Amino acid sequence: MPQPLVEVSAVSKTYTIKADGTKPRGVLKALNNVSFTMDKPERIALIGPSGSGKSTLLRSIGGLLIDDASSGDIKVMGQAIQSKGRLAPNVRQARMNLGMIAQQFNLVGRLSLFTNAALGHLGKMGGLRGFFGLWSKAEKMAVMRALDHVGVAAKANQRANTLSGGQQQRGAIARAIVQDAKVILADEPVASLDPVTARKVMELLVKVNTEDKVGVIVTLHQVDYAKRYCDRILALKDGVIVYDGPANGLSGDTLKDIYGEEIEDAY
Ligand code: ADP
Ligand code: MG
Repeated sequence: MPQPLVEVSAVSKTYTIKADGTKPRGVLKALNNVSFTMDKPERIALIGPSGSGKSTLLRSIGGLLIDDASSGDIKVMGQAIQSKGRLAPNVRQARMNLGMIAQQFNLVGRLSLFTNAALGHLGKMGGLRGFFGLWSKAEKMAVMRALDHVGVAAKANQRANTLSGGQQQRGAIARAIVQDAKVILADEPVASLDPVTARKVMELLVKVNTEDKVGVIVTLHQVDYAKRYCDRILALKDGVIVYDGPANGLSGDTLKDIYGEEIEDAY
């Protein structure tokens, strides 16, 4: 059987809340015994109300949580991200399989779109060559191919901070392709985009998934986007997975059963 792309086993995460005048001192269990596996390149939508643990789960998979208490194991392409709650020693290597996309500020504003996408090469080169623009011809061609693939090749020489939000998200996806990422983790990638642009970015994630066989895990605020663009939904509530199944199997009634009145606020 082929290797799973992502394995999350019994992951819990506790934040220690510092006394800062607004929050009481204490601990908060943001993830509670979360497990799931992505065996083949799927599009998984993570949904749930604000505060349900979506970003914490995504950041755990990305190996970006280093402090406070956590437990459980995470592997990406068979390589450990965390084991027994501790960040794996070779997490940097494991992370090279992951492309990360946030809601905004994904690109370095002063650099061109080309250079931003080319940064996807950096991990592979293991050096600073790229910062000086010393890409090989093959590397440059790979960058232009990726920009063309996501529909922004014409903007290659434009500074990132002069691009629209949708173009910037395309650039971040191009960077993941240049990096040869096997899985894209996207945290609310369309939340700050207008509906038309948001749909186009979601369509691009579908394309990258189906054509390039990249697995996608995306947190979404809108259930209808999850149903339309993803094939599997993980629904979180208070750090617990309360639904894991086909996107088209999640009915409005089930959602109401899971979230009750909260659903009105969340979506
Ligand atoms: P979501 O992305 O679903 O909105 P988060 O993963 O951001 O949820 O947060 C889950 C819970 O953990 C929330 O109650 C949030 O307040 C808390 N939390 C998130 N990050 C921190 C942090 N760095 N320190 C303390 N609590 C945090
Ligand atoms: Mg979040």
